[in-house]
Amino acid sequence: MNASLDTDVLIVGAGPAGLALACSLADAGIRTRVLEQAPLSSLAHPPEDGRDIALTHRARRVLSVLGLWNRLPADEVAPLKKAQVTSGNSPLVLPFDAQDEGHEALGWLVPNHRIREACYAGAVARADWITLQGEARVTALHRTADRATVTLADGSQLSAPLVVAADSRFSTVRKMAGIGARMLDFGRTAIVCRMAHEHDHEGIAHECFLHGHTLAILPMAGRQASAVWTVSTDGAEAIMQLSDEAFAQAVDSEFGHRLGDMRTAGQRHAYPLVAVYAQRFWADRFALIGDAAVGMHPVTAHGYNFGLYGIETLTRELVAARAASRDLGDSRALQTYASEHQRVTLPIYLGTNAIVKLFTNDLPAAHLVRGAILRVSKHLPPLKAAITRQLTGSGLSPFDLVRDKLSTLPHIPRPSSLFGRR
Ligand SMILES: Cc1cc2nc3c(=O)[nH]c(=O)nc-3n(C[C@H](O)[C@H](O)[C@H](O)COP(=O)(O)OP(=O)(O)OC[C@H]3O[C@@H](n4cnc5c(N)ncnc54)[C@H](O)[C@@H]3O)c2cc1C
Repeated sequence: MNASLDTDVLIVGAGPAGLALACSLADAGIRTRVLEQAPLSSLAHPPEDGRDIALTHRARRVLSVLGLWNRLPADEVAPLKKAQVTSGNSPLVLPFDAQDEGHEALGWLVPNHRIREACYAGAVARADWITLQGEARVTALHRTADRATVTLADGSQLSAPLVVAADSRFSTVRKMAGIGARMLDFGRTAIVCRMAHEHDHEGIAHECFLHGHTLAILPMAGRQASAVWTVSTDGAEAIMQLSDEAFAQAVDSEFGHRLGDMRTAGQRHAYPLVAVYAQRFWADRFALIGDAAVGMHPVTAHGYNFGLYGIETLTRELVAARAASRDLGDSRALQTYASEHQRVTLPIYLGTNAIVKLFTNDLPAAHLVRGAILRVSKHLPPLKAAITRQLTGSGLSPFDLVRDKLSTLPHIPRPSSLFGRR
């Protein structure tokens, strides 16, 4: 490390992405300083935020390699064995079963505050390599040929060969680097709440596309589930104002009483839904990671999974740059990271947004198309298997499969125009 620089990599944001990146770089012998606007005391034991995060097999592998998976309380990690998708009152069910692909689970559900807690503890345990700095809001970014410098709200400045922004989907540091983002405001709000219920959920997640709204019931440890009720934003406040009993009754009734009596087992939290895709994931001496790079609609449960995939790729490229005696701000490393991360995330980002638009459109034509999709998918084992494989971390994503099928057909727009540049 150059003596006049403060560290190898400055990371802005101590969310689950920024902290996991710091752990990953530390294990590769790269020093980081993590700058977080909130006080560190709020990170050690973050409060429950109602988000329950579905993690894929690859995400679990990344967390395990970093020793973070073992920091999650085992009795709060719930296997997702099956998933069922339904549309409106249609009796059609599109089922996914981990066992079809020889796995015990499609993925695992973990409360977000436990993930944040584990990442923070992992960073503290690597104190020789990671410096955590709270109450450090980044207000400016300046890059020159040999360094990137951030200015904090108190006027102090810090420099490193590379700055990585992990400062949320509404990243201000992304803007400071001159990188724009496509944003898609769905005009919807997800209201999340932990529910206790009478019957065993058997590890099955339900995604119900109902009239005017969607309801996901995700199996958590014990006889509890995470309810994710996505409604038009102008109706969200009324639902937030319901009493606990009225809310539980409404969820129970929308879900058709399939888990027996329900009651709330946590606070309600509301998340307005905006998907974000950065125009690029790197600039000179700068990279984006986590939601700052790709902020997903939660319906396909990819946000943090993508964050972890990006961390794995960026670490690999920075290690390769260092092994070749190149600078950590080396543009080749950042470019390779960015193009791989885009290849992995863009098809799923676009596909997720298309699914959301179709499944939240209440025009009769959209209902017909949805029914047809469920019917076709149910009887198209390769598509179902591709979705299952994508969750369990092997093979092509379903969107890759569709794109590859399209590319074999004549008179169809080239895949690049449907899914963007790879
Ligand atoms: C309802 C819901 C359900 C979800 N379900 C899933 C799921 O099932 N599976 C999944 O993979 N993902 C899911 N996600 C997405 C997941 O929660 C996010 O991808 C993840 O939390 C993003 O982490 P992050 O570290 O990138 O950003 P954040 O958690 O937003 O952290 C950003 C950090 O940067 C700090 N910061 C911001 N600006 C500055 C600044 N200028 N200076 C210093 N610090 C700054 C903030 O204080 C914050 O600590 C869900 C999200 C929601 C809302």
